[in-house]
Amino acid sequence: MMKIVLLGPPGAGKGTLAALLKDSLTIEHISTGDILREEIKNETDLGMQAKAYIEKGELVPDELVTKLVENKLSSVNNFMLDGFPRTRHQAEDLDKILKRLNKLIDYVVYMDAREDLIVKRLSGRRICKNCGAVYHIVNRPPKQNGICDVCSSKDLYQRADDNEETVKNRLGVYFENTLPIVYYYDSQGVLLKVDGNKESEQLSEQLLSIFNEG
Ligand code: AMP
Repeated sequence: MMKIVLLGPPGAGKGTLAALLKDSLTIEHISTGDILREEIKNETDLGMQAKAYIEKGELVPDELVTKLVENKLSSVNNFMLDGFPRTRHQAEDLDKILKRLNKLIDYVVYMDAREDLIVKRLSGRRICKNCGAVYHIVNRPPKQNGICDVCSSKDLYQRADDNEETVKNRLGVYFENTLPIVYYYDSQGVLLKVDGNKESEQLSEQLLSIFNEG
């Protein structure tokens, strides 16, 4: 059983790491960003409410996101939360939800990365519209130009919020709202700090050996 929270700035490699870990652990990858983008695509009420915040690089209001996570968590045993919590309020609500569900977080993996690297990673990031696989035009290109390795779709796109101006805003929001949660979890004794400047494959191996030791 494994309950993990992935914490770190946008571009630290949370999604890529989660995709690698998912291959080795039987674990549900819960990315609030992915869920919200799906809601926008399907033009649901939640999607419509979230759209403007996401496009500006602002946070979607806590209560909308927390409700969504609560619904997901009630139906899974093992999970990897990616992009949640992002505020102290969300972190406290997550504690309450897990308490009600009789679940405990095993590790909060905190990935930090240099700002210049973050900007490079985000501006070169491409995502498969069909299956969500993540690529980078230089660091992690698909095997065949413009074609997804996983599902062969030809629809690799750049997220609207991965442009330079919005990235700067997202980083500011991260430092102000999300970074303080690192101390919250450190004081709970569950924090595991890893170097987000490293390649995701290396981090995945490092984490798997730590998880296996127990
Ligand atoms: P991500 O895919 O994690 O980079 O998230 C993309 C965007 O979705 C963020 O910039 C926020 O606008 C929104 N979002 C994702 N997760 C949360 C969250 N836990 N709280 C508030 N907004 C969120």
